[in-house]
Amino acid sequence: MASYSVRALVLRKTKLGETDVIVTLLAQDGRQLRAVAKGMRKPGSRFGGRLEPFCVVDLLLHAGRSLEVVTEAETVESFASLREDYDRSTAASVLVDVLDKTAQEGQTEERVFAMAEATLAVMADAPVSSLPAIVSGFLAKALAMQGYRPELLACACCAQEATGGRVFSLRAGGVLCPECGADDPSTLAFTQEARDVLQALLGMTMREIAEEPFDAAALRECFSLLRAFAAYHLPARLKALDFYAGSVFI
Ligand SMILES: [Zn+2]
Repeated sequence: MASYSVRALVLRKTKLGETDVIVTLLAQDGRQLRAVAKGMRKPGSRFGGRLEPFCVVDLLLHAGRSLEVVTEAETVESFASLREDYDRSTAASVLVDVLDKTAQEGQTEERVFAMAEATLAVMADAPVSSLPAIVSGFLAKALAMQGYRPELLACACCAQEATGGRVFSLRAGGVLCPECGADDPSTLAFTQEARDVLQALLGMTMREIAEEPFDAAALRECFSLLRAFAAYHLPARLKALDFYAGSVFI
């Protein structure tokens, strides 16, 4: 049977039997992969701490009967600070949870891996106070890559200028003019300040987001909207995001 190498980000570990682990991975081409790491829970395992969540690894995989089997694992980036610091770990958990629930087997998306790796690198060393903005920026960009890029200028329904509108439609995926907003039950109030923050998050790099002094109230509103937008369109419940919302954006 064929072996092949792949660079991947570890999203999740699941125990299998007495000593094995199934690792859920985001491959560099954006596909989701699951592979068995045999004996990983034995003391002195050759996989050591290399297959922990948030690690970027080069793997040699062997096609097994049902799941791939990891035969070699080499660390590319361990992002250790993300596991050692509570605030960073909570933020990075949102990232892996969203990718775990959105990346699919056999479905490639080239940009998502690079965006995830860049986000983790910034989460690893940015000031802790910038983490809520980084998490919000990741959510905005991840949703856009899934096909849910918010329409922020024209009405998402009739395409007329929506400068007078102050609502966001979860269903239509953008701001609405007052006429269209009146008929849509999925709207949320959306201030101009929060709209500007969302626009900025979509246009900035993660490093720029970490350095930008966003207004706390506008950022909170923007985060709540992104969370509601994700819940409306993504099929799975995002537990790490719910936890983040409850513990950081109270
Ligand atoms: Zn309209």
